[in-house]
Amino acid sequence: MQKKFSRRALIKGGLIAGACIPALGLLATDASAAPALAPLSPSDPTAMALGFAENTSKVDAKSYPTHTAAQKCATCAQYTGAAGAARGGCNIFAGHSVPANGWCSAYAKKPGA
Ligand code: SF4
Repeated sequence: MQKKFSRRALIKGGLIAGACIPALGLLATDASAAPALAPLSPSDPTAMALGFAENTSKVDAKSYPTHTAAQKCATCAQYTGAAGAARGGCNIFAGHSVPANGWCSAYAKKPGA
């Protein structure tokens, strides 16, 4: 048996489909709207001024005698990365990501960490 579509049903379906296409475009835009964070370079002037190290085990103990191995970005109050993530954002270095095991002299222990 062959199913017939009325001209009215075809036009109605076309209008609905046409209305959905821009909405899909908005969804795609929202998904890609979050800018990616650029990894912080140790040679960044602010990073150098704060003694930033990509790994807390590489911090110069002579320059930063109060640094301990337990201090790292993942436990810092400025760190905005997700728990368990290898990298995350930092409020000090806006637009950049820092390693979870990194460190700088602006370190402040996150409450409860
Ligand atoms: S402020 Fe904290 S999270 Fe940011 S780089 Fe320094 S130690 Fe890491």
